[in-house]
Amino acid sequence: MCKRAGVHGQLVRGCGDFGVGGGEEVISKRYIEHQTKEDQLDENKNIFYWTGHPFVDAGLSSLLLLSGKERPEDIKDEDVNNAIKFAAKIYSEKTWSANYLHGMIFPNSGILMANPGIKGIISKAIKNILKKEMSISTESLDILKEMLIKNFDEMLAKDVIEYLKQLKDTRYKTLLSEEDIRDIGSEIIKQKFVNEAIKRKIERELYRLYEDIKNQKKEYVEISEGTCVICGRYPPYHKVPTYMSSFPLLGSGKKANYFHSGNLRGADICVHCLFLVQFMPLASYKIGRVLIIQGYPYELNLELSKEAIQDVRIHRSASNARNFKRTENFLFRKIIEITQKVVGGYNYWRRASISLYYFISNNQGQVIDIINIPNPSLIFVAFASSYDPQGWKNLVSTGWRKKLSTDEEFLNFEREKTNEVYTKLLHNESVLSHFINLKNRDANTKWELLEFYCKEVLGMDEKALELIKNVGDRIVETLDTLEENKLTRRLRELENATKLYQFEEFFVNLEKLRQRMKIERPLMSFDEFSSLLVNYGENLDISWRTVKNLLLFRIYEKLHDKLSKISEKEETNEGGDEE
Ligand SMILES: [Zn+2]
Repeated sequence: MCKRAGVHGQLVRGCGDFGVGGGEEVISKRYIEHQTKEDQLDENKNIFYWTGHPFVDAGLSSLLLLSGKERPEDIKDEDVNNAIKFAAKIYSEKTWSANYLHGMIFPNSGILMANPGIKGIISKAIKNILKKEMSISTESLDILKEMLIKNFDEMLAKDVIEYLKQLKDTRYKTLLSEEDIRDIGSEIIKQKFVNEAIKRKIERELYRLYEDIKNQKKEYVEISEGTCVICGRYPPYHKVPTYMSSFPLLGSGKKANYFHSGNLRGADICVHCLFLVQFMPLASYKIGRVLIIQGYPYELNLELSKEAIQDVRIHRSASNARNFKRTENFLFRKIIEITQKVVGGYNYWRRASISLYYFISNNQGQVIDIINIPNPSLIFVAFASSYDPQGWKNLVSTGWRKKLSTDEEFLNFEREKTNEVYTKLLHNESVLSHFINLKNRDANTKWELLEFYCKEVLGMDEKALELIKNVGDRIVETLDTLEENKLTRRLRELENATKLYQFEEFFVNLEKLRQRMKIERPLMSFDEFSSLLVNYGENLDISWRTVKNLLLFRIYEKLHDKLSKISEKEETNEGGDEE
């Protein structure tokens, strides 16, 4: 999916199911009530809220995780100050500024100074001024000082002037050549004090937004200019026009059609949301593009961002998600780990939801894939991995069509390769065929896992499953009495059934066999026969093929040892019992 205009409307609606980011009217009313009662008591209380928008909430998660807090209302002035300092320090580093922030999230950001040319501007100004006199003269230094104070700050002016004076005393005592000026320009921007100046500038920009949040709160009485399209609580902020440089996936402001409001001032986004989104990169994972994982309930949102923040703290670079190259593989790994930690195990996921936002927003283009993880798949992955870890691994391995013998091998595949089972789970497609290994006539997991999958994901009812299991056991009972060559011939009838009548034929033949063998109890009653074949035969969701796969699973599970001995013999006796 590739969308530009209107994508934010969709992002917010994504959480509508949970009653967040809802109607403007309700929230405005709530805001005004809240404004009059609580805010008078505590100015800093409730400056920040969860909004339901993945990017803004990712920023809020960063702020909370950096502060070691869980609830937005607990964020204090001091926490925000620390977060601003931390972000400014990280963002001023080149790996962030040019490659990540400018290259993928906020191209040419004036707030985060994410502009690969920012140092170039400093060196160009220095060079131009030096060229006038072709020497480091007092007059040039004065002009330079004034310019740097105006565009950056006094400290940078002081640092640059001192550095130039020292150059004059040592290397460039007299006139400068063109080449000298070039060298001076490139030497200066490599100095640490330039980085420090950029860091201070980012800090100042973020503080300015934060101050505006606090000031707005005092002045704000009623909503007259409309409300923020993201949180629906505050008026749009137009001191800085909100374009793609300060909020991902918007237009550049040159063309109105990237904004659904057609508003040339940019998107109608409030200063709260604009401020929070500046912290979003800290909670993101860099997997080719930028990955934001949104979770609900909000504790889950925090949990899913935790690793990103930890990585930034330790490595000072954006998290590479443990080198995973596939977003869904990384996500399923995280789900398994979270399940081990939470109270309630797999049941935790019954009230949870997860969406992935996988995007890139730069001057060359903007693209986003939104992946909502089907809830039954979440529950199944959580159950499978904890109930039958080996079975789960076998099942997943079939998604690479590989038998992976060591954990390390498994992990390497998990990091690198697209997996068919994961992909099917993401798209709500059946993975039933992955439970059995037709070639080796083996079951990949325990029956209970298959049962759980059928109930939770395919929505089969318990009675039907019980019936299929019993019929499967009766088939096993019959087959087990047969001579080896007859056994495989019967089994092949079932394995090769591709049409419903062939499937039915298998049962009729087996029933005849039971009569010949004088087994008293019939394979199935008439009722059972009709419910198994007729009911499911016509049902498109749970077709007779589902039943066939379940029966094969049961047969392989019970008779695997015998069947593999037979196939070994068949292989050594070339053509021996083959039909
Ligand atoms: Zn807002």
